[in-house]
Amino acid sequence: MTAVRINRMHYPLTVLGHGVRAGIWLQGCTIGCAGCASRDTWDPDGGEAVEPAAVVRWLGSLGGAVDGVTVSGGEPFQQPRALAALLAELDVWRRDRDRPADLLVFSGYTHARLTARPECAEALSRCDAVVAGPYVESRNSGTELRGSDNQEIVPLTPLGAERYGRSAATPAPAMQLSTDTGVVRLIGIPRRGDLDRLRAGLAARGITAEAVTWLA
Ligand code: SF4
Repeated sequence: MTAVRINRMHYPLTVLGHGVRAGIWLQGCTIGCAGCASRDTWDPDGGEAVEPAAVVRWLGSLGGAVDGVTVSGGEPFQQPRALAALLAELDVWRRDRDRPADLLVFSGYTHARLTARPECAEALSRCDAVVAGPYVESRNSGTELRGSDNQEIVPLTPLGAERYGRSAATPAPAMQLSTDTGVVRLIGIPRRGDLDRLRAGLAARGITAEAVTWLA
């Protein structure tokens, strides 16, 4: 089995896809978008190597509903074989469930570039939809599911089309706050300048944010 390098997992995730979800952030990204909010995911040697079966065990331990799994990063397709192995396990896991669960993957590569890379084909074939394209800070316009409006939401299966196609209901962008493992995390897609405004607002109240993931 191919281990996948993971930055973190989180449940419940309610701001990156349909319904209540499990979120998996993969480790490693060399794309280097200016304004990236997830610089802690860049180091390919960071995070932890996890067997896909262990991810499925984690899913099985969750107490509530799971309408889908969101895989983000980092750049998931920079681990194409491990991503394919993970999605294959998730595909088996969801077949035994009594409610449909979609697999949604965020990538900093365009969909055209993903489809042109043979090593990405197997992983792509397991996705219900991808949100694809690099983050372009000047095009962060607060659109649903996308950090910037150059990114494409591409449904790849009927379930993906139902949940992420043009006619799907698209909730307004939102953020979640998590304090798992003693670290404060904002989950979701911030609008341009939100994170710097947050840091300045904390500083104005005497709280110093010492290590933040959106600054080098
Ligand atoms: S926004 Fe995503 S693709 Fe771009 S540098 Fe950050 S982690 Fe990589």
